[in-house]
Amino acid sequence: MLFSANVAGLSRRTKHLHAASGRVGPSGPERAIRRELTGGGANILARPVLPCGQADAALSGKSCEPRSKQAWRYKRWETVRRPIVTGPFEIYDDDQKTSPRNVNWVSAKQPASEEHTMKLSCLLLTVIVLIVPSSLVAQSKDTTEDGKLRIICFGAHPDDAEYKSGGTAALWAKQGHHVKLVSVTNGDIGHWAMAGGALAKRRTAESAEVAKRLGVTSQVLDIHDGELMPTLENRRIITRLIRQWNADIVIAHRPWDYHPDHRYVGVLVQDAAFMVTVPFFCPDTPPLKKNPVFLYSSDRFQKPYPFEADIAVSIDGVFDEKVDALLALESQTFEGGALGNAERMAKAPPASQPDLRREWLRERWDRRSGNEARRFRQALNRWYGAERGEKVQYAEAFEICEYGRQPTDAEVRKLFPFFDLTRPSAATK
Ligand SMILES: [Zn+2]
Repeated sequence: MLFSANVAGLSRRTKHLHAASGRVGPSGPERAIRRELTGGGANILARPVLPCGQADAALSGKSCEPRSKQAWRYKRWETVRRPIVTGPFEIYDDDQKTSPRNVNWVSAKQPASEEHTMKLSCLLLTVIVLIVPSSLVAQSKDTTEDGKLRIICFGAHPDDAEYKSGGTAALWAKQGHHVKLVSVTNGDIGHWAMAGGALAKRRTAESAEVAKRLGVTSQVLDIHDGELMPTLENRRIITRLIRQWNADIVIAHRPWDYHPDHRYVGVLVQDAAFMVTVPFFCPDTPPLKKNPVFLYSSDRFQKPYPFEADIAVSIDGVFDEKVDALLALESQTFEGGALGNAERMAKAPPASQPDLRREWLRERWDRRSGNEARRFRQALNRWYGAERGEKVQYAEAFEICEYGRQPTDAEVRKLFPFFDLTRPSAATK
């Protein structure tokens, strides 16, 4: 009822505006904009939309409509949508709320001939609110304040966050903290023998299974693998996700990494590192009151400067759990991912031999996580003390980004409440 009432209110206001403007059609400048947008008429998308691409199109505002109609509608939708939706189940109404954004919206002149478009937008808004209550409820659940830490970890593909932070995520989860692993692309070219929507769905399911086994949450954004760009729209998406999660810690790739998607995840998260606190950037999602600590996950690249392990975490206690979780990433592990082939796949144990598969994968991660522990021994000794640090077998490491909140050592110990588990008295030093 609330929505209907507000939408009706918007309609009334629209009529009022049109009556006040006394115009019956678009103004000169508006006609000029329309002319500009009418050029071409080709489809916006240059290739067929994959089944998984629908949400992608919705996110980016693109569709297969002719450019003229689509661009004009999207422009109008932006004009109408952003100021009036302010969060879950709230719609701005002049009579009830005021904000600079709202004033802008009210003063924006709408051509009378576009009234039906405005009504359509209102109708669409109602439909969206009615159709997606579960996601809005999820958002409100995301931000529940229960005194636990909230960590959001971005990877470029549906395996990166799992590989880089899966052990630490499991450690946080065991203490009741809330961790979300986000893949910024859908991984739809990450296999040598299959691609497209079917692969995206498969990898999304794999990522969800890893998250389930680690006791965390996951999300795979519907952006094509290999095509991520550091756009304003993607900056908004990342900003909203960090805000919705009400994150204390944000983890991402560094912006220098071998894969363009990895690099741009780094750039996008860096670009959000200040904006998450700015109220009028993405005003539809409440800003964070406290800037999170932004961290980079480890990599091996040396230029322009090598990864520095400011924080190193022993994952010895959850190493088997991490391996068991990563078993779910079949397309990437046993099948070889984007650069695999039939010969390579045949060397991995088949699905009919789960024990051999586990042993095979454990051996690989024994090497990989073992190398991380050896490489970041100094950081392990710093946080665990030399005696315990020297004994750590498997590790994950993180570098503190300069752009978010800069934590003191004491705060790092609170954000990573693992270092002093056997020495509780040292935890608050
Ligand atoms: Zn990747």
